[in-house]
Amino acid sequence: MKIAVVGIGVAGSYLLSRLRDEHTVEGFEMASPSRYYPMCAWGTSRNVMKNFAKNVGLNFDDYLLHTGREMIVDLGGELYPIRLKGLCTFDKKRFEEDLIKDCNVKFNVRVKSIPNGYDLIIDSTGFNRSLLPKIENQYYIPTIEYRVKFKDPPFDDFYIKPFRGLSGYLWFFPLGDRIYHVGAGDYFKRHCKAVEEFVKKYNGEVLMKVGRPVRITPPQYCQPFYNGAVVGVGEAIGTVYPMLGEGIIPSLYSAEALIENLEDLEKYRRTILKIFKPYNTVFQFIQKGLTGKLDLKKDWILLFKIYLHMRFREERYGTQARIRDFYKVVSAAWRKMKTSRNQSSTIESSELS
Ligand SMILES: Cc1cc2nc3c(=O)[nH]c(=O)nc-3n(C[C@H](O)[C@H](O)[C@H](O)COP(=O)(O)OP(=O)(O)OC[C@H]3O[C@@H](n4cnc5c(N)ncnc54)[C@H](O)[C@@H]3O)c2cc1C
Repeated sequence: MKIAVVGIGVAGSYLLSRLRDEHTVEGFEMASPSRYYPMCAWGTSRNVMKNFAKNVGLNFDDYLLHTGREMIVDLGGELYPIRLKGLCTFDKKRFEEDLIKDCNVKFNVRVKSIPNGYDLIIDSTGFNRSLLPKIENQYYIPTIEYRVKFKDPPFDDFYIKPFRGLSGYLWFFPLGDRIYHVGAGDYFKRHCKAVEEFVKKYNGEVLMKVGRPVRITPPQYCQPFYNGAVVGVGEAIGTVYPMLGEGIIPSLYSAEALIENLEDLEKYRRTILKIFKPYNTVFQFIQKGLTGKLDLKKDWILLFKIYLHMRFREERYGTQARIRDFYKVVSAAWRKMKTSRNQSSTIESSELS
């Protein structure tokens, strides 16, 4: 087939690499090669990524920047450690560059309409979803991220601080050589001030600032996945774990599903819905939290289902999942949300939980 891959992020670059031997593939990317910087904290699970890398003849360990021992969760009055099982940061920029080595990619091209002359056009434009029909009622989290150098880093491992109300979190992810991604995403838009305050507090030197929204609506509600000769993958069809904003591995799962079903897009649709069914529960939980309808006494079953999903996939998420950790983190954020709702009717404050 003659295939156009529009959007050369993690899904698009992986697809170019996987498809180029059997098909004629051409890539289009709106960024210029010199300015391209994957807007992402570059955190992932080494256990899964090593298999994706192997599929395209790369060794994932060559891209590792930091392998975590523990994730420190800042609950306000307490720093709560969660054991990690393969969560790492990797050089996502170099990884994507290596995926497209020797591929035909046109940079500086923002594709606005469906290109002619292809048997299949893959919309891998992430949040933009530039070629598939637009979808209503989308939930997304605005984010900002700085690349920061610290003379005296406040932590030496992964650190997160949830926002009050389970609406997002601030992250501090090590990239090695005292450089970190410090970012935050918050549905209630407290993220910019939180990152600025964190970097100032610990005297960080800001090397770069980026930001974009992350889609958290799961695939079930991001249909259609295909329309005529256009088919979507990755964040364009909602492959982001809604609770964490984690989209690298899910986007690569969707890319593999597309490769398997290239000739049968209806089967691709069904496969995606099956793979991402557990995300519906997570989304339901988050949506209830964001709209003030969460009642932990009634909705504990949702949380328990999410816990079970992660408990049996510790390698996949790179994190130990224990019921007491779940309960501790969620109930702390929830308690603070209730307290603040009692104190004021809005969630306007820029403070973290
Ligand atoms: C600040 C931030 C931090 C994150 N941190 C993590 C993390 O640590 N771990 C994790 O797993 N996930 C993380 N995510 C989510 C993850 O980055 C994405 O879900 C994932 O990269 C989606 O992959 P994709 O290939 O579908 O889209 P993207 O990686 O977003 O790639 C889309 C590409 O399409 C290009 N493009 C868009 N429109 C057009 C157009 N019209 N024409 C041509 N090109 C176009 C863009 O320039 C981009 O290169 C984070 C997201 C953000 C915003």
